[in-house]
Amino acid sequence: MAPAKAGIIRPSQIPVSALPSPITSGDPLTEPLFARIPAMPLRPSACPGLLRIVPALDGGICRIKLPGGLITAAQAIAVAEAAERFAGGVIEATNRSNLQIRGIGTEHDQLIATLLDAGLGPKNPASDDVRNLMLSPTAGMDALQSFDARPLAAQILGSLETHPRFHELSPKFALSLDAGEGLAMLEHPHDLWLSALNVNGETLLGFGLAGCPATQSPLAAVALEAGHALVVAVLELFLEYARPEQTRMRHLLQEMPASQFLERLSKRLQHPLRHDQRITTWRRAPTQLNSHIGLYPQRQSGLVSVGGVVPLGRLSPSMLRSAATLSVERGDGSLAMTPWQSLMVRNVRCERAGSALERLRAAGLLCDADQALSQLIACTGSAACGKGLSDTKAQALQLAAYLQHAGVSQAVHLSGCNRACAAAHVAPITLLAVSAGRYDLYFRDAAQPGFGVLRGRDLTIEAVGAMLTADSRSNTDD
Ligand code: SF4
Repeated sequence: MAPAKAGIIRPSQIPVSALPSPITSGDPLTEPLFARIPAMPLRPSACPGLLRIVPALDGGICRIKLPGGLITAAQAIAVAEAAERFAGGVIEATNRSNLQIRGIGTEHDQLIATLLDAGLGPKNPASDDVRNLMLSPTAGMDALQSFDARPLAAQILGSLETHPRFHELSPKFALSLDAGEGLAMLEHPHDLWLSALNVNGETLLGFGLAGCPATQSPLAAVALEAGHALVVAVLELFLEYARPEQTRMRHLLQEMPASQFLERLSKRLQHPLRHDQRITTWRRAPTQLNSHIGLYPQRQSGLVSVGGVVPLGRLSPSMLRSAATLSVERGDGSLAMTPWQSLMVRNVRCERAGSALERLRAAGLLCDADQALSQLIACTGSAACGKGLSDTKAQALQLAAYLQHAGVSQAVHLSGCNRACAAAHVAPITLLAVSAGRYDLYFRDAAQPGFGVLRGRDLTIEAVGAMLTADSRSNTDD
């Protein structure tokens, strides 16, 4: 296959799902129709996408956005194969519940075609970047959920994919939908967040802008059936008023107060916006730490989800294949990627959960929260990122070994520079690289901006390990 020009989608790369029904990939009419579709320009962006492979020190990066973080076993195996055949074999689990392949060589067309053939492409080539809706990995099967978020999520994703105006949103513009599940990422800031709340026995959808339910109360709420219309109206309003350089909701809110945004929004909705005090003072209950690791009970009797952390966010093709095979043999034939850079096999019968967990462990996933490495995140670092001041992944392994030996498990984020790509939220402990092998140490403090309180400067990993071990001991001593 001849290589495509950079930034141009070849007709053969347009997913079948973008074609008018009833033509499918198995239809003999498909090829001539593909041939008649002109190449479409992709907008320039530094963010990788499925159709836009961006360079890094270790080769190209292709990001595969997964609806609700879900991927079928067959698709996961296709990703593993693509990573092996056309890249260096490194697959990353991102903190937005997506996958990306790194170290891609020159065969971009072949890699993209493999992923599109597996049905991993967007419905519309122009919508690849904007498929940014975060869901709980246990949506629809969580014992604590107020409603099944999946139908509304499908409506929202459908609009993001098919509404041409929404394709103008920044690739970073992101939404979250929380139906009250016990397993939900509440700390990641989103341009629009939605959370289920109950008022007098009625389930409403509260929402906020440019923030997250962990730290904000809703600005207002709507009836559940108005959820989709609300999202469409918010996005249309944003696009109407934001100037081109105001790519995120927070930029617009610097000029247009939230109250004004709400006033304009209410004029576009058929359902009333509700903002009585019970709604605007409501706070989302926190979720239990580490419940994405190990066994997670489902609302369906006799079924559990089984989860393991991807070590430092990196999967080998064989790990992904093993998890995919496990999902077919023990689960529902799909994997749920999570914002904690972990994966879950869902709908596992209770009596087979122990053996499923063992198999995930054997595949190389971290299935115990007291494994020090399960609590560490690290960005790409200097090994493959030009901005990195230190090899964060290698030093995270050193730190994990140190902490494991000391019997300490702490949530630590190692960042190669202050862009902090690996974490969408502020971690309890951050190590910010200042030079090769040396870090400043911060402890999260809600009263402090950025990473928190500076607790040590220019430290080696050994010094950090000693401090964290001593700190942990002093915290647990009577
Ligand atoms: S945080 Fe900095 S060093 Fe790490 S991947 Fe991002 S840009 Fe590169």
